[in-house]
Amino acid sequence: MDTDPGILCFQHCSCKVFCFELPERCPICSTALSTANFRLLPFRIPYPFVRAIQHPCSVVIKPTSGDFLHDYLNSMDLHIGVTNSEGTVVEFDRRFATA
Ligand SMILES: [Zn+2]
Repeated sequence: MDTDPGILCFQHCSCKVFCFELPERCPICSTALSTANFRLLPFRIPYPFVRAIQHPCSVVIKPTSGDFLHDYLNSMDLHIGVTNSEGTVVEFDRRFATA
């Protein structure tokens, strides 16, 4: 079973920051975040590593070989598909679609 660690995102100055806990200071410019004005207020990101069958009517992406947590490098090909209303994955290959 997948475990959601609670990934947060915020932007104070020049870059978006992804973290598990909101830091006291901005890691980019070191401004104290308790009194700072955010460009993007902190929000929790939906956990991206889920079972496709539990998410009907969704776009799903996986590495062509292996999985994101153990095998993926950003130079590797991705495999994309969608799930129907029953959660069945419909994959699209380069030349044809398969169900
Ligand atoms: Zn900053």
